[in-house]
Amino acid sequence: MIICTYKEKNKKVRKNFKTASSYNSFFNRVNKTSIVPSVSPSKIVAIGLNYHDHAVEMKKQPPQEPLIFLKAPSSIVGPFENIIYPDYMSSKVDYEGELGIVIKKEAKWINKKDAYKYILGAICINDITARDLQAQDVQFSRGKSFDTFCPVGPIISDEINYQNVTIKTILNGKIQQESNTSQMIHKIDFLISYISKIMTLNKGDIILTGTPGGVGQIKENDMVSVEIEGLESTSNHVHLRTKINSKEI
Ligand code: MG
Repeated sequence: MIICTYKEKNKKVRKNFKTASSYNSFFNRVNKTSIVPSVSPSKIVAIGLNYHDHAVEMKKQPPQEPLIFLKAPSSIVGPFENIIYPDYMSSKVDYEGELGIVIKKEAKWINKKDAYKYILGAICINDITARDLQAQDVQFSRGKSFDTFCPVGPIISDEINYQNVTIKTILNGKIQQESNTSQMIHKIDFLISYISKIMTLNKGDIILTGTPGGVGQIKENDMVSVEIEGLESTSNHVHLRTKINSKEI
């Protein structure tokens, strides 16, 4: 099943497609700017340092247990919307391409072997991060949660092999991150089980499964895309906040 939501006469229409080909013909004729995020989670549970090469570049040991933090759901924007760089507060903002897992139904104390029953599908996500603020703060909330810091792809799909797909981040046409979800340290079934024993996962909640090595900065006017095999990508322009409306600051 492939899920896509778009705006028609100012109403949101959520559409389900049984096959990739039926989705593709829709995608080719729909006005791309009418596509809006199909996700509105009660929470985004993100995993830090879940790929070895990313832990190495951050000069950190991969944690024995998953490193969990929350990213504000209000940071979500659609696949063709702008990323607003908070240049009044941060001077180092990074992209992080990630596989997002969308939860299908309430998950509480779930066994690893049952975990996949709780997945609605996967979605491309860019876990935009104000790296300088993340380093200053004990908690990651500020650095991870500015409005527009969570661009999501146009579809949720359960037709991919979650734990074996390529993931790429492309900055201005150049590949910056290229890996495979098989390289995750803590696997998706374990993460669902682990998180569900801490907090109830609600229908629509998102697990951000971590970013591979190759993270780097975005700057004004950049175009950054996250591409995952079998999913539609999110591609977003970067604009400086102070240039949009300096009076508000
Ligand atoms: Mg991340």
